[in-house]
Amino acid sequence: MPDQPSDLTGLQGVGPAVAAKLEDSGIHSVQDLLFHLPLRYEDRTRVHPIGGLYPGATAQVEGTVEHAAIVPARRAMLVVVVADGTGLITLRFFHFRAAQKRAMAAGTRLRVFGEVRAGFRGLEMIHPSYKRIAEDGNTPLADRLTPVYPGTEGFGQARWNRLTDQALSRLERGNLDLDELLPPGLLASAADDVGQEIAKISLKGALQFIHRPPPNADVAALVERRHPAQQRLALEELLAHHLSMARVHRGLRQLGAPRMNEKGTQLERAFMDALPFTLTGAQQRVVKEIHQDLQRSHPMQRLIQGDVGSGKTVVAALAALRAIGNGYQVAITAPTELLAEQHLSSFNSWLEPLGITPVWLSSKVTGKARQKALDAMAEGAPLVIGTHALMQEGVAFKRLGLVVVDEQHRFGVHQRMALLDKSGGQEDNKPERAHQLIMTATPIPRTLAMTAYAGLETSVIDELPPGRKPVTTVVISNDRRGEVIERVATACAEGRQAYWVCTLIEESDAVQARAAEDVASELSQQLRGIEIGLVHGRMKAAEKQATMQRFKQGEIQLLVATTVIEVGVDVPNASLMIIENAERLGLAQLHQLRGRVGRGAQKSSCVLLYSAPIGDLAKQRLNIMRETSNGFLIAEKDLELRGPGEVLGTRQTGMLQFRVADLARDEALLDLIPDAAGKILEKTPKLADRLIERWIGDATRFVDV
Ligand code: ADP
Ligand code: MG
Repeated sequence: MPDQPSDLTGLQGVGPAVAAKLEDSGIHSVQDLLFHLPLRYEDRTRVHPIGGLYPGATAQVEGTVEHAAIVPARRAMLVVVVADGTGLITLRFFHFRAAQKRAMAAGTRLRVFGEVRAGFRGLEMIHPSYKRIAEDGNTPLADRLTPVYPGTEGFGQARWNRLTDQALSRLERGNLDLDELLPPGLLASAADDVGQEIAKISLKGALQFIHRPPPNADVAALVERRHPAQQRLALEELLAHHLSMARVHRGLRQLGAPRMNEKGTQLERAFMDALPFTLTGAQQRVVKEIHQDLQRSHPMQRLIQGDVGSGKTVVAALAALRAIGNGYQVAITAPTELLAEQHLSSFNSWLEPLGITPVWLSSKVTGKARQKALDAMAEGAPLVIGTHALMQEGVAFKRLGLVVVDEQHRFGVHQRMALLDKSGGQEDNKPERAHQLIMTATPIPRTLAMTAYAGLETSVIDELPPGRKPVTTVVISNDRRGEVIERVATACAEGRQAYWVCTLIEESDAVQARAAEDVASELSQQLRGIEIGLVHGRMKAAEKQATMQRFKQGEIQLLVATTVIEVGVDVPNASLMIIENAERLGLAQLHQLRGRVGRGAQKSSCVLLYSAPIGDLAKQRLNIMRETSNGFLIAEKDLELRGPGEVLGTRQTGMLQFRVADLARDEALLDLIPDAAGKILEKTPKLADRLIERWIGDATRFVDV
């Protein structure tokens, strides 16, 4: 009988409390226990002679207790000396009970496992695990390697072992729904790519092997999760994730959507005529792709990737005008207040002359103003701009035709879908959804895009507007802060403008704001005669807007800011950026920040200030920033250093939380997935359901569109 999620409590030693703990680690069923893979393994299948041990080794020994005593010290310690005829080893326990001392009285035979260290008087082990063994030596050794599972608080290895033992024996008896689901063709191609072994091992065999490997297993490969048994699981997991994303988008494609013809062209032409520049080739191409999508009778699902400053906003505007020209409403959302405001001000200045006034909605719009905005939307206002507040309940549109989501990677899939749900009209008995345009400034590595955005069409703006100059980046220790301040003074004296970005680990707006205030006052002491402005997340929208406006107009020369300016801010005359504590930021964030300069005619530079000492990873990040400004390269490195969950900001949504797979490590497998997934969805959709259910389970709820 297939396993039901609730049957965890059917296991011995699992009551409601333990089950709840397991749930917290993402384990909802007995089968999930088997997808919780060991971190490493211990070899308890052999006994080593004590005389052959060396410091640093982890080993199992067996011997007779010569001596056991509690040594009084500032903190009492239990010391046990064990001999096996080849040598002596001292065991030290700092936490112990009196019963332990009695259990290890002189003459007792012990089997001990632990890490060997050099002590004052020869070899020792601190807190080894041990067990008493029979005099006759008839205590069998383990015949498998002993798994060590990732720790969960209050959950010892013994417990994990008892749980996985039970799960494995159910697997053995065929009581778990773990049938072979991978298409043989996929396994065969995987075998060509990563080695024949992957096709020789069954799912059950793989799980048995991973949890209880034989003594001769390739432990190094297992620990790195490159063993065919693990790759076999990773392949299946990647396939399941891809299927689930692809099904969301395919599902949407089955629905109807407003067809938009060229009615918008008049508005579009007026808009283009007023622009102070012409579109780049890449922008023109992408606009054309979008306009073609908008003519179709199913919802567009297009992802636009374009590096910082590649000009995505104008592209969004041309998409919006097509929808508005056709009598539909457009919603534009951005993940931060500041970015949304920036869009508001761009669209205001672009579209006001065309008679279109955007409606503004963020969580800070409350009371009467909020009601007014909601009414306008319900009555059919052509353009609404805002933050995630647009995705909340109680927000309704009259005729929503296009949703533009900027900086998509900050929103979860669920949120995106929530906004689309607001467009649920009905035409020809077919539920209708708005078209969707997703814009991301962090270029997403190809492998990540294939999985995270499976089923989305992708356009890339792979060209920057003409005249952009590369930003020179230097990495400087905070010890030389004085020189950096000098540099700001010189730049401002030359009529240039600068950003000074303050970063803090604390998430709290209040703490960040205070830090930025402190820096602003420090700098105003040292930079007399220079006009300094301050923006941070605690300020009122109007206040922020006013300061940004003064900076834009050149009245403010130095803008001190928290990372709120990370996205979207656009002031071409600013050509110097200082980022404090740059070592604390991730690559994507640094790249976004640096993208604020290098937008004008001036040669720009960026100073990454760090406070020593910094770790290896941080050092690597700063070096990458110094060496390249290529967003795609930076994104690839980011994926390598951080892992996909963090890159996409989807830790919480669970969307890209893999149990086994790793997008960077398993790239060779990923290449096989799109084809295989396509075939499954076409020919055996039931198989897709089972794979998704097996690996993702609950997370597929939002799939039912
Ligand atoms: P991003 O892709 O980072 O969102 P923006 O849309 O904010 O970039 O554009 C960055 C800047 O480049 C803006 O000042 C915008 O007006 C300008 N811009 C966009 N397209 C062009 C172009 N084709 N030629 C010159 N400047 C452009
Ligand atoms: Mg932008």
